[in-house]
Amino acid sequence: MRAFITALLVVFLTDVAVRCAWGAETKNLWNEEPPSRVLVGNNEYRVVLSPHLVSNIMGVCHFGAPKVILLSTNQNPQELWQTFFHEALHAISDEFETPLDHKQIGKLEVAMEQLMFQLHAQWTKK
Ligand SMILES: [Zn+2]
Repeated sequence: MRAFITALLVVFLTDVAVRCAWGAETKNLWNEEPPSRVLVGNNEYRVVLSPHLVSNIMGVCHFGAPKVILLSTNQNPQELWQTFFHEALHAISDEFETPLDHKQIGKLEVAMEQLMFQLHAQWTKK
């Protein structure tokens, strides 16, 4: 019984430590829906969710008219957001004429996710 209470306390304190590291009450970005439109530079991109993408393609960014960020619905909410950031970065790279390759965008996508998570937590704090 004592070991159980100790284990429970450790879990609780770890949880508190993780929450404090993120800055108080961390709200989950993954519960939100990606936007249906985003402005990148002077151009608006429609964001479309589709169950019909080829199985290993999670997202596509179409720079020509119509400008579209296509996201596969065959991914969990966190993956969906990561793919959204990835494709949005492709759009930013194109619109702002700062050529980035897929690998560079893959790294920036992680940084973008971290930043957005913090902003979301800050803005939705009680
Ligand atoms: Zn890519």
